[in-house]
Amino acid sequence: MVYQNTIEFAREMDAKDPLKAFRDKFYFPTFHSKEVVYLTGNSLGLQPKSTSDYIKNELDAWAKFGVEGHFLADKPWFAYHEFLTEKAAKVVGANPGEVVITHSLTTNLHLLMVSFYRPTGKRTKIICEAKAFPSDQYALESQVKFHGLDLKENLIEIWPREGEVLINEEDIIAKINEVGDELALVMIGGVNYFTGQLFDMENITKAGHSVGATVGFDLAHAAGNINLKLHDWGVDFAAWCGYKYLNSSPGGVSGIFVHERHAYKPELPRFAGWWGYDKETRFQMEPGFNPMRGAEGWQLSNAPVLGMAAHLASLDIFDEAGMERIGAKRDVLTAYMEFVIDAISKRNAERCQLEIITPRDKTKRGAQLSIVAHGQGKDLFDALTKQGVIADWREPNVIRIAPAPLYNSFEDCFRFGQYLEAAIQ
Ligand SMILES: *Cc1c(COP(=O)(O)O)cnc(C)c1O
Repeated sequence: MVYQNTIEFAREMDAKDPLKAFRDKFYFPTFHSKEVVYLTGNSLGLQPKSTSDYIKNELDAWAKFGVEGHFLADKPWFAYHEFLTEKAAKVVGANPGEVVITHSLTTNLHLLMVSFYRPTGKRTKIICEAKAFPSDQYALESQVKFHGLDLKENLIEIWPREGEVLINEEDIIAKINEVGDELALVMIGGVNYFTGQLFDMENITKAGHSVGATVGFDLAHAAGNINLKLHDWGVDFAAWCGYKYLNSSPGGVSGIFVHERHAYKPELPRFAGWWGYDKETRFQMEPGFNPMRGAEGWQLSNAPVLGMAAHLASLDIFDEAGMERIGAKRDVLTAYMEFVIDAISKRNAERCQLEIITPRDKTKRGAQLSIVAHGQGKDLFDALTKQGVIADWREPNVIRIAPAPLYNSFEDCFRFGQYLEAAIQ
């Protein structure tokens, strides 16, 4: 497609967009300017206008039924998570029995590693990406230490090559093969939060399995963004949060995937709580843990229904839009944003070179573009903010933006370019 950096072109693209009606389902913040350009759906997704009704329904049920809402509410709370499962499973490409919405992301990573990082004999090592999201680093580090193992020896980080910003996937595969029968676990972010690099999860999973290791992914920046096929790819486990591309409220509930070849094994070690107990006999409160079959067997507690309701509001929107259409728009919208940035960079090359460090190949990224503004610093970012752009600044010098296909428009991309040019000058 031939793009143009003009308002007319952007509006023409918006008029043709099959998802254009979805923009109106969200509230856009207005605190910087009436015409904000919101590009941080990768950090906190916007609030669907329907969310308050979903939450209000549960507040009303609570007012009306008190504790009996567990059974008498329209969506009985004791099984509330079941209303989310199928829709969440579609978003990540899983069978419903492999998914449950529960807890928060870092909590889930730990719970899953309790089951899937079980160092034995000489198979004790973990491969992860260098400069992973800090919470993931801490989780991995503490898991290794929890098993009484030496961190330096057992946590292997894959770094970009000298002078490069992105990780070369060949280096991940080569390291997996090199560590071989000492490798217990591969744990990587499906999309790197800093660079926006998307990894070939199917390929990494295959490589991990070929040496007998377990493979899991943190999908915080992938769920609702990438067209995932966790089941078909054979991924062992995954976790993601609900509040980034999935718009499910600040700190909202998160998701777990456990492949069905593991999920139906009650003997698999885990940390247990009553909500993971077989639901037919849960309330007999017998001693001895008998887990639910499927991913539900990793739940500890009864669900925070208000947060779950917010997540359901958003999952209903995803269900209506469909990941296929979302993915198709994502590629075109992100490519348009890239084109606009390149055009502005070219026109202002003397003042500032804008380098997109995210892969140029659309099969190697999602909606996020990470930009380094050479010759400019935080001032440029502050000038963008002043004009009404909500983007994200990462030390030392990266601006992250993510046009979210559900609610961002081509006009947003064009206007970002205009603000960017004004900020440079
Ligand atoms: C956002 C994000 C988190 C946040 O974890 P919480 O437990 O939800 O606070 C963790 N890991 C990655 C990769 C993230 O992008």
